[in-house]
Amino acid sequence: MNPKNRILQGIPASPGIVLGQAQVLSDRGAPATLRLLYTENEVSEEMDRFRLAVDRTEEELIRLKEEMPAELQEHGYLLELHLVILRDRRLYQETLRLIQEQNLNAERALYQAFQKVKELFQRIMDPHIKGRIADVEAVYRRLVGHLTGKTLSSIFSASEPAIIVARDLSPAETSQMSASQVLGFVTERGGRTSHTAIIAQSLEIPAVVGLDNATWEIASGEDLILDGFTGRVILDPDDAMRRRYQIRQEEFETFKAEVVQGSALPAATSDGQPNRVLANIELPAEVSLALKYGADGIGLYRTEFLYLRLRQLPTEDELFQDYKQVVEAMAPREVTIRTLDIGGDKFLSPLEYAPEMNPALGLRAIRFCLKEQKIFRTQLKAILRASAFGKVRVMFPLISSLREMREARQLLKEVQEELRLKGVPFDPHMPVGAMIEVPAAVTLADLLTQQADFFSIGTNDLIQYALAIDRGNKQVADMYQPLHPAVLRMIREVVRAGRAAKIPVAMCGEMAGDPLYIPVLLGLGVNELSMNAMAIPVVKRVIRMTSLEEAREVARQALRKGTVEEVNDYVIGEMDRRFPDIFRFGRTLATNPGT
Ligand code: PEP
Ligand code: MG
Repeated sequence: MNPKNRILQGIPASPGIVLGQAQVLSDRGAPATLRLLYTENEVSEEMDRFRLAVDRTEEELIRLKEEMPAELQEHGYLLELHLVILRDRRLYQETLRLIQEQNLNAERALYQAFQKVKELFQRIMDPHIKGRIADVEAVYRRLVGHLTGKTLSSIFSASEPAIIVARDLSPAETSQMSASQVLGFVTERGGRTSHTAIIAQSLEIPAVVGLDNATWEIASGEDLILDGFTGRVILDPDDAMRRRYQIRQEEFETFKAEVVQGSALPAATSDGQPNRVLANIELPAEVSLALKYGADGIGLYRTEFLYLRLRQLPTEDELFQDYKQVVEAMAPREVTIRTLDIGGDKFLSPLEYAPEMNPALGLRAIRFCLKEQKIFRTQLKAILRASAFGKVRVMFPLISSLREMREARQLLKEVQEELRLKGVPFDPHMPVGAMIEVPAAVTLADLLTQQADFFSIGTNDLIQYALAIDRGNKQVADMYQPLHPAVLRMIREVVRAGRAAKIPVAMCGEMAGDPLYIPVLLGLGVNELSMNAMAIPVVKRVIRMTSLEEAREVARQALRKGTVEEVNDYVIGEMDRRFPDIFRFGRTLATNPGT
């Protein structure tokens, strides 16, 4: 028998604490058994059986989309994406081909087709794109359910609400959950950037992802404590442990209510220096969360999602509608739209290029857009058209030279001219920014101000390139240090250049949303911070409890230290002392499920 209070460690994906019984969904994802078909008749029956399963899956997806609860309607696009994946030739035609040419049974043929798709995804480095494999897998599992007669619809309808434990849950499956049926969930798969995590947050369902072997370690009916702050799952807790977590849970509820109450207040320091606290979003659906948590605007709209579809590129009109929706919903607040940050090998999109040895250093972001000008122009047109409906800024990712800024602005000018000739309205004064994510851009920051109306520091990439630490590599994750002296100096450098040219300097990497770093950043002169919406209330609270003078002192001290360990010790010590309540809950509340 296992001892009590056994602890499993996963990745925190959605904050909160729940105590309850596990319901394990274990039979999903095993290799399908092989059965060979011997007659032509069998082959054609098997092909029909597969087609029928596809039709049923399609009907199910359409029904789910129609029945989706109102607060999740905006997530319907995921089901649409699944409908497209379902008929994608790599899955659909390939399965039929394998049945016909290799005489495989439908389950096995589908399994093999799916494995091939997975291999293609595995070669992609970008975590956002890699995350799309979850959608293909979700479609695969749904299809297997219809082929084998075991569908997923029964999963969430257990009579008692439970903590769901699964190998993986797709965003569409997650969006079928409601807090009344599902206390929380634990998955083996899933990265921090997954939409599953985003949806869990918008439903306010605590979740832990990336917990290896969860479906083996946890048995259905077993009592669990799920800690969405630390990523811990405690099996068969004893009374003392339960009490401890119940108290934490109550304290958290009180803390959250208190913090959220203040989220609409302005983000001024205690001595009156105004700051802007903005939200990062990937989808229009996240706007409501941004508003709920008091965002002063959108500081980073990552626009990749619409490009990750199958078959065709988004049209100018589709992009325009998407941006307009965000701009109108946020008005009169400002929306900063980042142009396409995509590159290299894009499976499941029409942008198929040769796989790159080192995609992080490859044809991505602005480099890709300057090469694929047609795609870029279409996006710029859509952004400009949306600018007629509210306050819009545009910014270019991964800028590493003045030439890139010049070229991008030149294209923007040409597109403006085109719209002007057609009489299409847009904001001719829309600010144009450069993302500072590459050390070269830091060094050139003073020059870049010639072409940039604002800067936004993307620390996720800047830290990766400055410290040569792959942001997605678990092996070196402990070396990925925002308070590294080199990083602090770079931020100082960018702020200086921005100040000298009188242009605003924002930050939109994950560093900006972690309360631990707020006084240092304010002290360095960054006064526009963009983050995961859930982090906003806590960050605003830290700002309101800090004076600019204190913040400057923290930054000064931090800059004097020679090693990252010294800076960490100093900053953590200082923050623990000043904000004991926030560092009990706040940090995990705010720490994005981001990268
Ligand atoms: C960054 O690099 O900090 C950033 C905000 O962009 P992304 O995380 O989308 O690369
Ligand atoms: Mg980046």
